Amino acid sequence: MYYNNETVIYLNGQWQLAKDTSTGLYQQSFHYGNGVFEGIRAYATDQGAQILRAEAHYERLLYSAKMMHLDVDYSVEQLIQLTQELLAKNNLQDAYIRPLVYAEEKLGLQAENKSNLFLCAWDWSQYFAAGELSMKVSPYCRPDPRSCHVDAKVSGHYVNSILAMKDAHNEGFDDALLLDQKGYVAEASGANIFCQKDGALFTPPKGNILPGITRSIVMQLAAANGITVHEKLFTPDELMAADGAFLTGTAVEIQAIGSINRQPFKLPWPDTFGATLQQQFHQHVRLRKVKFKKTKAA
Ligand code: PMP
Repeated sequence: MYYNNETVIYLNGQWQLAKDTSTGLYQQSFHYGNGVFEGIRAYATDQGAQILRAEAHYERLLYSAKMMHLDVDYSVEQLIQLTQELLAKNNLQDAYIRPLVYAEEKLGLQAENKSNLFLCAWDWSQYFAAGELSMKVSPYCRPDPRSCHVDAKVSGHYVNSILAMKDAHNEGFDDALLLDQKGYVAEASGANIFCQKDGALFTPPKGNILPGITRSIVMQLAAANGITVHEKLFTPDELMAADGAFLTGTAVEIQAIGSINRQPFKLPWPDTFGATLQQQFHQHVRLRKVKFKKTKAA
């Protein structure tokens, strides 16, 4: 799924075939999760493949690397240029791009500054099958922001997401909703959450979440539609009493949530702000002019 015999990847200054690439087994990243990464989308448009918010993603990659003391000898511009080459070499239009910065070989716990840069991409359409998600409030909470830099996209943080997702799948749910240490809603295993209540949108503030780039696009689209977005903490009970809710993320884009703990939301999805924003988001990423609909809140 990720690569075939012809797939070209970038590793430390070299373009090479994925099938011929190997790396060491003694890296800190492999043993302790000390690596940082990004998930980026490219979309086919009338003007060729367009990387969505490339700058914001690579700024976040460099920020994440800095927080983990990993040195990266590439600028945002160089990383974007390499990504464009990667797409061209693999003849990709609708793609998911995965840059990974991983540490050099060292099994001690002293931060390892020297890093490797790996870039790969593959053909991509949709993360979740179409439809509305059934989500479960997870028994696993988000990592405590006093334990690690939760606003950085660090490989090791994702063991939390993997455990939460597995628990949700075991019980027949599509995804997990993780709370912070105080019991407020934080985010899904790999996406941010918004809910709609009384003609406005609510989303958890920065602090316990990965502040998503899609989250910020949605906030911009909401503002352009005259929809107020409150960055405010809310509990799972408050969420379940909302009119509707959706996830946002590079992979999930804007994804309807149908129910939490099997309790459905009040409004049918097509009647929610989420549905309007979802439609506009799809136009936006394909560089089509977004026609703003007059919403109830406008
Ligand atoms: N939270 C987590 C934990 C994630 O992994 C992601 C995906 N990167 C997001 C939120 C959404 O972020 P973005 O919109 O930048 O993809």
